[in-house]
Amino acid sequence: MSVPDARLSRVNVSRDSRSASAAPPAEQPTATPSPRTGGAPGGSRGRLAALRGPGVRPRSLDARALAALAANPGCRRRALLDGAGVDKGALAQALGSPAAYGQSQFAIVRGNAFEARVKADGATELLRLLHERLAPGTPPPVPEEVAAPDLSAAGPEGRAARTALALREATAAGGWALLDHPMLVVEVAGAPAYVEPDAVVVHPDGSWTVVEIKSFPMIDGSADAAKVGAAARQAAVYVLALEPVAGHVGAHTGRAVRVRDRVLLVCPKDFSNLPAAAAVDIRKQLATTRRQLSRLARVEEIAATLPPETTFDLRLADDGKTATRRPEELADAVEAVEPAYAPECLAACELAFHCRKRSREDGAVETLGRGVRGELGGLRTIEEVLAAARPEAPEAADGTEDPGADGTEDPGADGTEDPAVVALRRAAALRDEALARPAVPGPRAEEHGCR
Ligand code: SF4
Repeated sequence: MSVPDARLSRVNVSRDSRSASAAPPAEQPTATPSPRTGGAPGGSRGRLAALRGPGVRPRSLDARALAALAANPGCRRRALLDGAGVDKGALAQALGSPAAYGQSQFAIVRGNAFEARVKADGATELLRLLHERLAPGTPPPVPEEVAAPDLSAAGPEGRAARTALALREATAAGGWALLDHPMLVVEVAGAPAYVEPDAVVVHPDGSWTVVEIKSFPMIDGSADAAKVGAAARQAAVYVLALEPVAGHVGAHTGRAVRVRDRVLLVCPKDFSNLPAAAAVDIRKQLATTRRQLSRLARVEEIAATLPPETTFDLRLADDGKTATRRPEELADAVEAVEPAYAPECLAACELAFHCRKRSREDGAVETLGRGVRGELGGLRTIEEVLAAARPEAPEAADGTEDPGADGTEDPGADGTEDPAVVALRRAAALRDEALARPAVPGPRAEEHGCR
């Protein structure tokens, strides 16, 4: 299967549900402590609550949000809003730039049907694919002998504790086990986020594999790179959540427990409803997600740089939906935090239309894409780019002739030529040359027109 690393179910995440979730029942084991990916002292927590507004509960982070954090690690705006639990969708709506992305109901239903098919008959086909892709050369799992522990419990905390216990028992038993929709916990900016992968498989050797089931097609062994990348980042969140559990299980069982950094991606084969699978290496996504989640510990630092009166409170009316805060005020608050807009935001962040609008108004080259942005070097705005592309660039502000006005390339500050400017001038010259010619040659004298 030739699915590259950067290409790859549904990750269901509920965050900070302390107030909503039931405490673990007395008979439930205590959940394994979650990885520390951020911590907000009480005072900072109060500051973050103030950013949301009085009485506003923190917004649950979903898998898309956690994965998207890793996709755009340079965005302080998103880090702060997600860390503070601000509802970015409602904020975008109040700003007049509502988000226009998300899974359609049809896609959700289709995805659920495909997952049910993959897990039918005791997940026989799923286990076959997993053995084929990730454990060739070892004895295959016998479906009747694969443990399928019951993971039901009250509330996400109880389910996370039940999952940790099931992983410990399955690992100690030394056989195959399939955990269907286990509940894991990862701490994000000082608050627990509960994540739910499609499945986790325990191997007889004590290793664990995350299984992702997606409804986008895998055609001739390849799938859409962007979708695989997004799924890989989601899988990385699950692996991060599993790592501390593995540490505790290893300590209790005396076995070497490891969470595999290759996950199993299962998709419909071509355009059929049959499953195809690929092993996806997520080491890169794992490193990025780990770093980005740990950065959320610094949301307090970002918050500390804002004017004290800054808040993203929408001041909802009595109906609980209508924002009464003036959009201009909200826009000022949002602008106080530095963004890192890129066209990829359009598929990953609720604020994308707002950030794109501002970026365009500023003439920022970021609107052209990360690749183009990188090629342009020190040129920050489209105006600068156009000026650099034209040999007849306007005079400098001090009235002296622009060094590029004679048609030669600008020397850089260190005397070298800026390759971006050279390339731009060459492109501009080629364009002028092309436009100077008639676009469509007229018919030759001896030719007759169509009759
Ligand atoms: S849309 Fe705006 S807030 Fe969201 S990630 Fe992009 S730049 Fe950051």
